[in-house]
Amino acid sequence: MGRLVAIVGRPNVGKSTLFNRLTQTRTAIVDDTAGTTRDRQYGKVDWCGKEFSIVDTGGWVVNSEDIFESEINKQVYLAIEEADVILFVVDAMNGVTDLDDHVANILRRSKKPVILVANKTDAGESRFNVPEFYSLGLGEPYSISSANGSGTGELLDEIVKDLPEDDSQEQELEKIPKFAIVGRPNAGKSSIINSFIGEDRNIVTNIAGTTRDSIYTRYNKFGFDFYLVDTAGIRKKNKVNEDIEYYSVIRSIRAIEASDVCILMVDATLGIESQDVSIFSLIQRNKKGLVVCVNKWDLVKDKSQEAIRHFEAAIRNRFAPFTDFPIIFGSALTKQRIFKVIETAVDVYKNRERIIPTSQLNVYMQEVIGAYPPPANKGKYIKIKYVTMLKESPIPTFIFFCNLPQWVKEPYRRYLENKIREKWDFTGTPINVYMREK
Ligand code: GDP
Ligand code: GDP
Repeated sequence: MGRLVAIVGRPNVGKSTLFNRLTQTRTAIVDDTAGTTRDRQYGKVDWCGKEFSIVDTGGWVVNSEDIFESEINKQVYLAIEEADVILFVVDAMNGVTDLDDHVANILRRSKKPVILVANKTDAGESRFNVPEFYSLGLGEPYSISSANGSGTGELLDEIVKDLPEDDSQEQELEKIPKFAIVGRPNAGKSSIINSFIGEDRNIVTNIAGTTRDSIYTRYNKFGFDFYLVDTAGIRKKNKVNEDIEYYSVIRSIRAIEASDVCILMVDATLGIESQDVSIFSLIQRNKKGLVVCVNKWDLVKDKSQEAIRHFEAAIRNRFAPFTDFPIIFGSALTKQRIFKVIETAVDVYKNRERIIPTSQLNVYMQEVIGAYPPPANKGKYIKIKYVTMLKESPIPTFIFFCNLPQWVKEPYRRYLENKIREKWDFTGTPINVYMREK
């Protein structure tokens, strides 16, 4: 189960600067699938081997000086509800403002660990204003400068100290697939869950949570046995917040991180829009399995093979370069093909677990490499000697041993990946292809 840190504070105190600083400090880069607008608001941090996700909730609200109190309230309540630790950023250049007081009042009443962060202490005399923030009643302010990084190491130490133990809930779970149903509001997430679980509540068991409310529901029927990760679907909906985009995005983050395979619900009547792409990119960045369910197919008039092909191509095109995933057309309402969706998610789960015997792997890859060896670089020849798969890895991971790993470029890595996918079934799961020196 992922752990989530949220940054809150009024506009211009330096939240996004701090977010960038912290996400760049990571000692191990988890993943680098770049290029979405979501990157500014969601990132992963690895500090001394402790990993957590971080969101800048300010990225979603109107960012202007005359921000409404109600906007700030949404941001803060969201953080209280979803985050494990809250960073409350204030501006040491300005001292305490009314809005800071207002936010501090809400945070003090919450049970969440809050770290008070006095930013911009590099500027002029501002560091002398820091003690003033004691008056917010949130303990000692951390003096930092997001701009030059001073104090951020101590801040990270404090954050990881406050985080709950990782995987406390996961250890109680059996090793069966964990599926998350994600998608933008109104795509049909609740409907498909209700269609599975329906009237027969006996077939599901709630797993009592330890550090937070339960998020796993076990489904055991018709030969299926898996956990559904709770999203807005099972938990009662919060009517005030459900249609706010950042709310649904944070919910998605939590669900995606806690799952093995994500079922991405897409509304057939609307097609793929930027929100779908954002959620897809969260799935990719977390290296989870993927099944796309094109829902509300009952409402679509043209169901010809050509229309289906066209729709599929449009989805793969928007999600490129990762295109090797299943797409199921169905209806949560009429229950058409909803079991197919689960069957397919089980297949993807199996693909994630697949281990190719080393000898088989080497026979095939020698052939592939022989047919098209890595291009020589500045007169240096690259020789790939052998390949193995890591046994203990959450996703299929191939290690190619060679003399000059750093000279093997991305296009060649991609060639190897494609050849692996051609030969064995890794549909729906990302795979790692690494080069190591031998
Ligand atoms: P946000 O609205 O809270 O996300 O604030 P931003 O991160 O966009 O920062 C607002 C302004 O403060 C920008 O002009 C930043 O360059 C500046 N800023 C942020 N952090 C620091 C800092 O540590 N020191 C100084 N001097 N300026 C900062
Ligand atoms: P969520 O916000 O993703 O949980 O979406 P809901 O499950 O609440 O569905 C949103 C709306 O779409 C509701 O009015 C559903 O009845 C409707 N809906 C969901 N799935 C289907 C479907 O397959 N066909 C049709 N016609 N309507 C659907």
